Amino acid sequence: MLNIPDSPHPRIVIIGAGFAGFKIAKKLSRKKFQIVLIDKNNYHQFQPLFYQVAMAGLEPSSILYPLRKAFQKNKNVHIRVAEVQAINPLKKRILSSLGEIYYDKCIIATGVVTNFFGNESIEKFASPLKSITDALQLRNSILSDLENALMTTSYEERQGYIDIVIVGGGPTGVELAGALAEMKKYILPKDYPELNEKEVDIYLIQSGKCLLPGMSEMASGKALEFLEKLNVNVILDKRVTDFNGRYVKINDGTEIKAHKVIWAAGVRGESLEGIESNAITKSYRYLVDPTNKIIGYEHIYAIGDIAYMQTVEFPEGHPQVAQVAIQQAVNLANNFIKNQSKPFKYKDLGTLATIGRNKAVADLPKLKFYGFTAWVLWLIVHLRSLIGFKNKFFVMLNWVWNYITYDQSLRLIITTAKKNKEPVD
Ligand SMILES: Cc1cc2nc3c(=O)[nH]c(=O)nc-3n(C[C@H](O)[C@H](O)[C@H](O)COP(=O)(O)OP(=O)(O)OC[C@H]3O[C@@H](n4cnc5c(N)ncnc54)[C@H](O)[C@@H]3O)c2cc1C
Repeated sequence: MLNIPDSPHPRIVIIGAGFAGFKIAKKLSRKKFQIVLIDKNNYHQFQPLFYQVAMAGLEPSSILYPLRKAFQKNKNVHIRVAEVQAINPLKKRILSSLGEIYYDKCIIATGVVTNFFGNESIEKFASPLKSITDALQLRNSILSDLENALMTTSYEERQGYIDIVIVGGGPTGVELAGALAEMKKYILPKDYPELNEKEVDIYLIQSGKCLLPGMSEMASGKALEFLEKLNVNVILDKRVTDFNGRYVKINDGTEIKAHKVIWAAGVRGESLEGIESNAITKSYRYLVDPTNKIIGYEHIYAIGDIAYMQTVEFPEGHPQVAQVAIQQAVNLANNFIKNQSKPFKYKDLGTLATIGRNKAVADLPKLKFYGFTAWVLWLIVHLRSLIGFKNKFFVMLNWVWNYITYDQSLRLIITTAKKNKEPVD
């Protein structure tokens, strides 16, 4: 039963400690509720900087924050590290890997997972970037493949190791492509002088006609210009149809030889069993009313990426970004605290994407700009959003060091040795 003590206060169970779950738990801490915060990890992850961990620019610990440390002073918050599998709305119970728990109110904030659109081969061989583990695996495979490339005299074989294909031209794909291009330009000649960095091809394939869909025409155009200047091969209006671990197939019949495909082309909701299908969209998000309550259910709410709220302004749901998750968490917490049902209204603070050193694009509500100023704004916004002073400090230190030296010193291949730890009777 998750071993949660009895309390005179109503119990709110929050599933997921990402941007939405973490924020609402903080807002409700020290209020007259008993909060149970369940996550499959014992830390909060700052997803916008995953790509810098994958590119060996930041250490994982700089962008993770332990949940127990975050809630040390909040005695009404009980943390459990467990994976939730299902909800039983009739009995008001949650089923998890650690057992069941009763709730008075349940908040689902489980976010999204990578969507491979049913292609099993792509799912098997491509690398997603949705968790810190994905980021570390990608870092290891990029660095290991560079080591492998040194050991072959065949140009054809070497291409497989060093060429990289990124699928999806949204912010993640664009930021990854820019970071890889800078790694090729500044790091490869120093770390791998025996490799010819000109042989390294970086492809960014986007199914739509422009990069950064959802941002302004100026932002899409500038992102393309910046990436092309960095020698990234941007392929627009084409779809990757298959990848077998060796060759990438594109829908125009061409093939690219590459061992690494980074899949940033789509997400789907991390939905749980127990909610009827008429409250779930095709991309597995929960349909919610303007107060984030799941349609057809009392006492069950969804916030953040997993929530799908149709409004006049956002007929296809809100964008799946951190600000929506945070603002929905704040609105719902205020509704609980004040016992009200105020509808959610998204305040768009703007969108930023960085392409590399001194290069970023910014779409603010009243101003759109690019270049160095946008890049500085991107740095400030991301630093401010990180949780914990130590994380902010170390990330800033890394960025300053990298800016001055054109180098980071984190290119380590660390894999874990597997040991059989089964006790012998
Ligand atoms: C690579 C990348 C880059 C991004 N860059 C940006 C950016 O620059 N700007 C921006 O605004 N947004 C960005 N986003 C999107 C942003 O990270 C999301 O919109 C935001 O994380 C959504 O918050 P959330 O709380 O809904 O979900 P998440 O932050 O994903 O949190 C979900 C939590 O639920 C937990 N969980 C999931 N399933 C279970 C389960 N069954 N049981 C227990 N726990 C579970 C997970 O461990 C996780 O902690 C990026 C996303 C990615 C992947």
